[in-house]
Amino acid sequence: MSQNNAKQFDDLKRFEAKLNAPFQSLKTSFRRDQVWPFLMPNETKANIDKNILLYIEGLNLSFDGFKALNDLNLYINQGELRCLIGANGAGKSTLMDVITGKTQCDSGQVYFGQNIDLLKQDEASIANLGIGRKFQKPTVFEQQSVFDNLELSLKANKGVLPTLWAKITPLQQDKIQHVLSIIGLSKQAYQLAGSLSHGQKQWLEIGMLLVSEPRLLLVDEPVAGMTPQETERTAELLTSLAGERTVIVVEHDMEFVRSIANKVTVLHQGSVLAEGSMQEAQSNPEVIEVYLGEEAATPAPKVKNPIDKANNNKVSLIADKGVKI
Ligand code: ADP
Ligand code: MG
Repeated sequence: MSQNNAKQFDDLKRFEAKLNAPFQSLKTSFRRDQVWPFLMPNETKANIDKNILLYIEGLNLSFDGFKALNDLNLYINQGELRCLIGANGAGKSTLMDVITGKTQCDSGQVYFGQNIDLLKQDEASIANLGIGRKFQKPTVFEQQSVFDNLELSLKANKGVLPTLWAKITPLQQDKIQHVLSIIGLSKQAYQLAGSLSHGQKQWLEIGMLLVSEPRLLLVDEPVAGMTPQETERTAELLTSLAGERTVIVVEHDMEFVRSIANKVTVLHQGSVLAEGSMQEAQSNPEVIEVYLGEEAATPAPKVKNPIDKANNNKVSLIADKGVKI
């Protein structure tokens, strides 16, 4: 073949390839072993091969120029019980808002396992992935029984309205009984939720999350307003939930944090200031400076109601450190 002919042949081949391209991709799409992208299931199972359930990297969020989250990095292991502490305004709730899809961040990454990009999901899909959040104020249906609250929550989670009127299956009934025993409300199952104590309502609300078998539980200030006995019981409850599930707790009551935390993360001005055991955090000069204040240096006298203690803590923070509340 002359050089001229060879070039013409190449051109012809290229032209043919170009003509065939759309048909090729069509052919590929129709291959029996090929799944069309739009038919591919959304990834719903977090890959935790590296034992990390939640990856947060370089998270930033500003409100009118104020950095609520500032290059925040946080890694939570599967089965961990992690406490998040920090003065009011440190960014704890905002962080939970971003993880649960309530608020969008400006930049950064949030992954559930190694594979699920939470920033690409909306609030409902994040909940469906197994991330449950308990807000500070309990929001139970006061006029319904404890059992009915759990039943409604179980059905509502299915996301299909007709199931609300369907009878629950024996399996679902067992699941509710199991959750009742975990939250310690088996005896109160047929009592109106409105008649429960504040602490019991908080446990019921945790139970309402548990019926949908979450992998990650985010709990915001669970013991505020609880009696010392209720606080102790909540510590036991949250500790028992970790392991099988992963739990992140935001709390102001340092005694409570001390009683449950293996590892605490101290947030300050939207960033992680320190991370480690409570003992390490307590002896970290920066943490003492911005958050723990004198409480860490000299243990405060025992206060009966932890909310008083939390408030004392806040007051001393304003007075001594000028930290924004
Ligand atoms: P924490 O839970 O640690 O007390 P937050 O996450 O609630 O702190 O708040 C962090 C900072 O971001 C605070 O200064 C708060 O005023 C601010 N902030 C939070 N949400 C908003 C919002 N929607 N608009 C403006 N500022 C906000
Ligand atoms: Mg908060």
